[in-house]
Amino acid sequence: MTKSNNMSQTRRDFIKTAALGASAAVGASLWGGCSSSTNPAQAGADHTAQGNGFVGYGTGAKGDLSALVVIEDGAIKSVAPGPNLESQGPGETAFKLLSQRVVDAQSINVDAISGATLTSLGYLSAIKEAVESAGMTEAFDTPVASEVVKREDAEYDVVVVGAGGAGLMAAMTLIYPNYDNVKSEIKVIVLEKLDIVGGSTSLSYGGCAVGDGLQANDTMGYHVTPEEMVDLLRKRNSDGVNEPLAKAIFTKSPDTVARISAFGGPYATSYTGSVKKYSGYTYLQMDANLNILLSEVDKAGLGMYSNQGGFALAHFLETKVRQSGCEIRTGAKAAKLLAQGNKVLGVHVIEGTTEYDLKAKKVILACGGFTQNSDYMKELTGDLIPKYTPWCSAGATGDAFTLTKDLNTTRVGKGALVYFSLGTQLGMFADLNNIFRQRKQIVVNEEGQRMVDENQDEYAIAYHISQATNGHAFAIIDSENPNVGVFQKWIERGKVVKADTIKELAEKYGIDHAGLEATIKAYNTAYENGESPEFDTPLEAMYPVKTGPFYAGEISCCIIGSLVGLKVNENCQIIGENDTPIEDLYGVGEVCLGGNILSMLYSGGCSIATALNSGRISAEHIAKTINK
Ligand SMILES: Cc1cc2nc3c(=O)[nH]c(=O)nc-3n(C[C@H](O)[C@H](O)[C@H](O)COP(=O)(O)OP(=O)(O)OC[C@H]3O[C@@H](n4cnc5c(N)ncnc54)[C@H](O)[C@@H]3O)c2cc1C
Repeated sequence: MTKSNNMSQTRRDFIKTAALGASAAVGASLWGGCSSSTNPAQAGADHTAQGNGFVGYGTGAKGDLSALVVIEDGAIKSVAPGPNLESQGPGETAFKLLSQRVVDAQSINVDAISGATLTSLGYLSAIKEAVESAGMTEAFDTPVASEVVKREDAEYDVVVVGAGGAGLMAAMTLIYPNYDNVKSEIKVIVLEKLDIVGGSTSLSYGGCAVGDGLQANDTMGYHVTPEEMVDLLRKRNSDGVNEPLAKAIFTKSPDTVARISAFGGPYATSYTGSVKKYSGYTYLQMDANLNILLSEVDKAGLGMYSNQGGFALAHFLETKVRQSGCEIRTGAKAAKLLAQGNKVLGVHVIEGTTEYDLKAKKVILACGGFTQNSDYMKELTGDLIPKYTPWCSAGATGDAFTLTKDLNTTRVGKGALVYFSLGTQLGMFADLNNIFRQRKQIVVNEEGQRMVDENQDEYAIAYHISQATNGHAFAIIDSENPNVGVFQKWIERGKVVKADTIKELAEKYGIDHAGLEATIKAYNTAYENGESPEFDTPLEAMYPVKTGPFYAGEISCCIIGSLVGLKVNENCQIIGENDTPIEDLYGVGEVCLGGNILSMLYSGGCSIATALNSGRISAEHIAKTINK
């Protein structure tokens, strides 16, 4: 139980009274946090009209949540979430699966949904509290027998390990090579070790880097050739780029999003509203209605931004793959590769208490990154992990490294993808974070010094913040700054301070005040003289700090991906001994992002571009070679 009895009683009575039909409209809106077409809460609201609905509360990954449990004739008839911040993206799947588990088992002792543990635990607490308030705890506090899965060894043409963007895109391309509804003969299975499909892809914004070839580029006058893109990546990747692969990815990228869109996927068909120029190339965001949109629930809450762009992408791919008849087997972990010398023959799978082999002509490793594996993080990213929270899929445990450890593979790249964050609970989804993204502020370290041109792309700034003293920095603005309204909102939440003088402002955050005063003086003087200050910030991108009161917001970082991967060739075949491809083994998505495309310094949209296009590249190579 997460709330005191008095407190939860008051809230419970309030919601129950409303739901009981004093006003049907009020009752419905109270449960309006999820989409109405799929929201079992609607069913719950109907049942409450008969007086059998009970409400409980819990705390999920993003704050408070509630559950409505309908009990009739001594049985749990339905379970549904109330308004909450979790119902964006994967949280919604967790609610559905967990509600079903409780109804099927007629027990409050079901397992959490792996991949959404915090949401699940909060929701289970809420369900238990609701059942307790019905006086039915004893009836439903029953043990649940663990499900016994029976599987035989089997054979497929292709086994895809990992159901994130890369694995699902590979599977969809294998099944529908022309992105129409005509299926190939290739027999594919996708394994996913979590209960939830989508990986980090479904947590992401879904923004994708694309170059020339989109109608929108012409409309908006943005142009970048694949060669220019490779050049840009070379400049950001100290270890060198896998040029043939990078060129193949950015040659295909516009065609891939156009095909996904034509095939019913969530990229906007008229791109103009969602394309921006980004470090010299085009960054295509999801349909603006799906992405970076304050949800209705958020408006009254913490000002979180939605991750529904990436979720919509993963959900589209999952639906297409499942509708084809291809199995996506959840809760099934590829634990070992079956191999003979340099040739891979399939995978050994652990599913619950059962183990079996899946033989395959080709295996695609689409296991995502390693940011949730603290050993790999320590080994491969130095001191990032103690500082920052990984805000990635729970499945990002570096299984591609573990599975191939005996195959003489080579790890390439450095570090992890860091991005602005307000702190561990809020991750990157908050309006203040999105204001930081606009780069209309001076950014200083604890010494009060600027570290980087604030007009650079946000990933470069985030990287510099990760290297600053204590891994954080401060955005400084004055009262005339266009974003002052959002800064003011966050004072109460303890993420922004306000003061009449720069000295006072610095002291509130423990910034060296003499350093900050000198920095601001030099910056303002340069601006008045029409000169660029240090780091060559252009005049039109400068925001002088002159008019009090002044504001400072603390910027920290979170980790949203891996920048170390396995060395692959231009077909995404994993390279083994003697620099030759391991036979019949592919690595796609974050498995091949680090070192091949990026290292240390991220470029926006390149992960999704790599996930989708490397998935497609591996599938096209397999289609050409599988029966030869
Ligand atoms: C919050 C956030 C925002 C982001 N925004 C963007 C953005 O806008 N643009 C962009 O380009 N990038 C973005 N990224 C990065 C991008 O989303 C990822 O790099 C990309 O989606 C990775 O795709 P993937 O398919 O390689 O891995 P994932 O999507 O993580 O999928 C891998 C899957 O493999 C499963 N798996 C792992 N091991 C096994 C095993 N042994 N057996 C079975 N299954 C296994 C995992 O559980 C997981 O589901 C963002 C990331 C985050 C976290």
